[in-house]
Amino acid sequence: MACIFCEIVARRAPASIVHEDDETMAFKDIHPQAPMHVLVIPKLHIASVNDLEEQHIALMGKLFLVVKHLAAQWNIVAQGYRLRVHVGRGGGQLIDHIHMHLLSGRQHGA
Ligand code: AMP
Ligand code: ZN
Repeated sequence: MACIFCEIVARRAPASIVHEDDETMAFKDIHPQAPMHVLVIPKLHIASVNDLEEQHIALMGKLFLVVKHLAAQWNIVAQGYRLRVHVGRGGGQLIDHIHMHLLSGRQHGA
């Protein structure tokens, strides 16, 4: 079965896209767990952290820069936010296309 996040990148599946550049995309999670919940992904299909190689280092760094850009855009730098990466079924990963959750807008415990 096709990867749903690759389908979103190819615009064959709908998504509420909040950022796109040559190598990355960010879109709203369909089941938000916070007032602001987006997924930041590389356009390149990499299944999980376990599949990362040396050649992906810059791309992974770019995901963090997209987060920084969105945080500034949404004025959440001061209040803070949470980033989450699930790895494997035991780690709660449901979609096998590497992604970072960006959650904001509610208080998170320490
Ligand atoms: P994970 O558990 O880290 O694999 O997270 C997968 C996330 O993707 C979940 O929070 C889902 O709600 C979200 N999700 C699944 N399908 C879509 C979709 N088509 N568009 C946006 N978010 C999705
Ligand atoms: Zn994919």
